[in-house]
Amino acid sequence: MNKIPFATDFTRQDGNEELWYQVFQLGHPVLARKQRLYAMLPGRDRCKMCYAPLNGFGGWLAKRLGLEPSNRNPLFCNACDGFLQAFPGGAEVDLAIMFCDLRGSVELSSGMSPKEFKDLIVTMRETIIPALWRSEGFVLQFQGDSIIGVWPPGFSGPDYAKKAVDAGFRISELLNTLTINGRKVPVGISIHAGRAYLGTVASVGNDLQEVSAFGYDVNVAARLSDAATVGEVLISEAAFTAAGRLEDAVDMQSFDLKGMNAAVRAGHLTRR
Ligand SMILES: [Zn+2]
Repeated sequence: MNKIPFATDFTRQDGNEELWYQVFQLGHPVLARKQRLYAMLPGRDRCKMCYAPLNGFGGWLAKRLGLEPSNRNPLFCNACDGFLQAFPGGAEVDLAIMFCDLRGSVELSSGMSPKEFKDLIVTMRETIIPALWRSEGFVLQFQGDSIIGVWPPGFSGPDYAKKAVDAGFRISELLNTLTINGRKVPVGISIHAGRAYLGTVASVGNDLQEVSAFGYDVNVAARLSDAATVGEVLISEAAFTAAGRLEDAVDMQSFDLKGMNAAVRAGHLTRR
């Protein structure tokens, strides 16, 4: 399976670097104000960028403010989709990255009906994605049985890495208590921190845009999630350091990850 968080039919778009550097590294005051306001409205499904609720009562309220799900990009509101369309591009920024991967999906899918498997994926997404929003993470374009969140400081604040680590702990707790059709949702989680190019990607014909991440540290996070077993939250030394939690790290060991030019040290956190 392609573990990298961008599908091959999406093409990276360059440009508007200063603007995206402000959004993801420094913080954009207009977006920050919207996020604070919209996060107070009730809602389960939210715009990935500004957190405007997209359905239910919160969605009804948001519609009074002129916001509704974009026809083109249903995971964004119409305003944020307009922004992606008007300002394609991205910038290299600091960030924390989390991969949540369904473990043993081939065996799982062979032991249940396609509908049961779909329900399991939907439940996994509905559990993890709201937890990412609540921790001020940004959900990247996801595919199949992986969910990828990023915490860039402009979007998530100066304690972005701490928020990512807290989110990993929270998601792990949520998944531990969750059963669907009598079985647990087996997920392994990795968290890493570093730098990546965060920016828009467009589908063929430019009829769909998303935000994706590119770079060595994204691949480290992806490979580290391969090493995480069911229920495990594997946190890299770089993520512990960025979160200011290195003294709380336990079980630290070196991982030789496929395709990476140096071993990556990672371990666990025993308490929040
Ligand atoms: Zn929005």
